[in-house]
This record gives sequence, structure tokens and C-alpha cells, in this order.
Amino acid sequence: MNSIKNVNFKNKKVLIRVDFNVPLNHNRQITDDTRIRESLPTINKVLNDGGTVILMSHLGRPNGYEPDYSLTPLVPLISKLLGRNVIFTRDLFGPKTFDVCGKMKPGEVALLENLRFYPEEEKGDEKFAQELASLADVYINDAFATSHRHHTSVSTIVKYFDKNAYFGLLLENEIENLDKVLFEAEPPFTAIIGGAKVSTKIGVIENMLNKVDNMIIGGGMAFTFIKALGGKTGESIVEDEKIELARNMIQEVMLKGVNLYLPTDAVIASGFSNEANIKLVSAESIPDGWMGLDIGPKTRRRFAEIINHSQTILWNGPMGVFEMDNFRQGTKSIAIAVASATISGSFSLVGGGDSVAAINQYNLSDQMSYVSTGGGAMLEYLEGKELPGIAAIRKIVNSNVKSKVNKKK
Ligand code: AMP
Repeated sequence: MNSIKNVNFKNKKVLIRVDFNVPLNHNRQITDDTRIRESLPTINKVLNDGGTVILMSHLGRPNGYEPDYSLTPLVPLISKLLGRNVIFTRDLFGPKTFDVCGKMKPGEVALLENLRFYPEEEKGDEKFAQELASLADVYINDAFATSHRHHTSVSTIVKYFDKNAYFGLLLENEIENLDKVLFEAEPPFTAIIGGAKVSTKIGVIENMLNKVDNMIIGGGMAFTFIKALGGKTGESIVEDEKIELARNMIQEVMLKGVNLYLPTDAVIASGFSNEANIKLVSAESIPDGWMGLDIGPKTRRRFAEIINHSQTILWNGPMGVFEMDNFRQGTKSIAIAVASATISGSFSLVGGGDSVAAINQYNLSDQMSYVSTGGGAMLEYLEGKELPGIAAIRKIVNSNVKSKVNKKK
């Protein structure tokens, strides 16, 4: 791996693509700074070596320049976390940015304005890539959560740095941990997949079926499988166009010798609301007018038992509508089971916005072996796809290895 651990950045000007797409409240205050903290080791490595750091990121999905999406509110926090002044450049390609970046000295840090103010960022634009690349000598990608995008600052830009492009420490950590579950999982290996829809997780389920011993399916998506098996799902969320696919998956599971676990009981509600009437029923006999919004206690116990007997655990997606008090027990019990299996020595990897929000809510994130920072990027990696941001840097590593081999010949 092109790790920065083996590089000295003394007197180098380093452009770091970070993912500082942090949540802001209506007063434009940062409500969760995890994404900034996660990239501190990479930034500090360059600064401690005696290098200069130019940070670039996107924030939200602005349509051209929209002041609400400016990175200005991030400057004081980055400055506080690094314990240094941070120079902010508002106009990416005005002479001022080039002038400021050109004059920066070792130990100094600059932050460029939101890359997505420029439509070229999302188009893989060569000119935009060249202009960004001209600001520095070295490129580091530390933005795992954006690495599945074919965007200029994550993939197109890389070739303009020739051999001087690297994975940041966060990105390296993500790859190492995801590869652990993909290629080195110790059996029994259990994947727990939940969330609203099957359609967004099909790729992951299919790829993981080749690797796991147990596949636990919960959340809204379980009802498409339950209906495919002939169950009554009432008004539960079901993707009718995916029923055939669910049936094929169930057959595939049997052929591959994987154990598939679906909910056997469910907490049902008379409406999609925390104030609705609730009942506990068998998951395959939900009456008309009712919808399944969480897994029931029998299912919770069964799922926890499987998790407790697993050596490797992958979890993505909640077991129910955990945002509402009445339907959070299922997700909570999975979070506790994964944490306790990890304490007993299993390897656990948790990812996806909602599962991560759930473990944070129960203060369990420190109990997991690894919590991924990527939502869509993590799913695509687990589907077995090569992410553009990772592929671009790997291409360089491979060409370096080839040229070394040729020289030896
Ligand atoms: P996803 O983004 O696909 O992981 O889905 C997460 C969302 O699924 C959360 O907002 C949950 O509230 C929702 N969800 C989980 N279980 C159910 C369910 N049984 N019915 C409807 N929505 C659900």
C-alpha cells in the first residue's frame, strides 16, 4: 500500500483531500466533528514531518455558489484541533489562492473553499484537476466516504502527481479493516443487514453470500423476503418488484449452505408513528392495516445468540425504525450483542449512517473493532467494486512496482 507512514514530507507542499462534509445546524454550527477528527492523524503526520498542508473538501450538495455551504464555519474548529492558524481561501482559482498557497511555509495549513461550488468537481474535469494539482507537490486522499465518486479531487487529479500520490491514514485503515472482513474473516462469519430497502443492499448481500456462514436480515427489507416466502406483510414496507429477486436469493443461500435468519416475530403498528397503536405478532402474519416497524423479542434473542457465536461480524443497517422510541429495541439489542461479542474477542465492523448513529446513541462505538466512516463507499467496497479514488492511487503503486521489477531485469 502507498502508505504515508513510510514517507517524509519535510519541505513538501501536500494537498490533502479530506471529507469534512460535517452536519451543521440552522445556525451553521457543527453538530458532529467526527469527520474532522478522523483526518487529524494524516494532517498531523505531514505537519510533524515539516510539510505544508493544503486541505480540500466538499460540503453538502450546493448548486454552484451558495453561501450556506461555505466551509467558513469549519475554520475555527480545525484551527483549534490542530492548535495552529488556518488560512482560508475563498476563491479557488483567483490569483489570491495561488499567491497564498505559493507562499506557504512548512508547518502552515490552508483550507480551500467548498470544491462543489465548482461544477467541474463532479465531472472529473481535467483542467480543474490540473489547476488543483498545481497548488502542491504531493497528493493524499484521506476521504474514504467520497472515494466511490468519480470526482475530480478524488480520482482525476491523481495522475498529475505522478508517483507522489498516497492513501491517508484514515483511508488506509478503512481498506485494511474492510479487507479483513472481505478476505480474512475467521469463521463463523455473520453479516447483519438491515435498513429500509433491499434494493440498496442487493450488491452487498450477494457478495457477502460467498463469504459468510450466517446472513441475518432485519429492518424493513426483511418483509420483502417474508412476502417472497408466502408470508402476510400487511402494510409493511415491501418492494414488490424485488420479490422475485428475494426468492432467487433464498435459493442461492440454500445452495451455498449459508444460514439465513429472518425475523420470526415483529412489533407492528397501526401507522408510521411513535403514537400509533402497537402489537406483537408473528412476522409472517401481519394483519391488513398494520405494519412491521421492529423485530420482536424472540427474534432479538435468536439474532443475539447467532452474533454471540460468531468470530467475525459485519453490521450495516438498523433492525427497525430506531428513530422512534417504540421501535428501537431491535437495533439496540443488536448493538449490545455485537459489542459483547467484540469484548469476548470477535472482530466486528459496523458501518452505514444509521447503524453508526445507533451505536453512538448507546455509547457503544468504542466497543466495536472498527466503525467505518463511509456509507455508500463502504457498501460499494463490500460489493467487491473498486472505488475510483482507491483505484487511481493503486494504479500508481502498481506502475511503481512494475518499473522496479523492470529495472532489476
Ligand atoms: P437504510 O438507509 O436503507 O439503511 O435504511 C435506514 C432506515 O430504515 C432508517 O431510517 C429506519 O427507520 C428504516 N427502517 C428500518 N426498519 C424499518 C421498517 N421495518 N419499516 C420502515 N422503515 C424501516
